[in-house]
Amino acid sequence: MKLLVVEDEPSLLNSITRYFRQERFLCEGVSNYAEALQRIEDTPYDCIILDINLPGGSGLQLLKYLREDRKKDGVIIISARNSLDDKITGLDFGADDYLTKPFHLPELSARVKALLRRKYSDGNTGIDLGDLNIDLAARTTTTNGQPVGLSKIEYDLLVFLVTNKNRVVSRQAIAEHLYDGPADQAPGPEFVYSHIKNLKRKLKEKGCPELIQTVYGLGYKFVV
Ligand code: CA
Repeated sequence: MKLLVVEDEPSLLNSITRYFRQERFLCEGVSNYAEALQRIEDTPYDCIILDINLPGGSGLQLLKYLREDRKKDGVIIISARNSLDDKITGLDFGADDYLTKPFHLPELSARVKALLRRKYSDGNTGIDLGDLNIDLAARTTTTNGQPVGLSKIEYDLLVFLVTNKNRVVSRQAIAEHLYDGPADQAPGPEFVYSHIKNLKRKLKEKGCPELIQTVYGLGYKFVV
């Protein structure tokens, strides 16, 4: 799951990004309007944590842009202003949730997870695929009741494939989704290949049927 935090207060930006990385999310942080716009145009995020007052523009303008462009990124507004107007405007512009500063990080985390549950599993806490179950709140995977010990990247890879089930996902799309660093150091196809291989092996070891198909020359498909 990929998050973007847009916040110009350096210590708050740092503490939020650090917290979510510890919670095994891929989490990027930016501190002004222009950088945020660039990221939003380049990359789909599962959730954007968005401050309103930013150097160079308003978070509400970014939200408006996202929704006018029909982008589906989840958005949680975080704002120091405790005004009803801002809250109503934010929700009107298509924010999914609103949290007033100061807040506790576990509260923000709970809101993010609740949003992701609504977004990907119609409000259920997990994805049930028969032999395979994914608990989105705990970020764990079980097959036939047995835990599958997936790494953070393997878990994110699995959820990405499952949320795109029955569709071919290219290696490049997977690499962009999983990779969390500067674009000029983005990994090559070997990176995706090796994580797919490990994910398939771990699922197979726990007796899960082959659900991930390789589509030659195109990418991968999760079939259910
Ligand atoms: Ca601010």
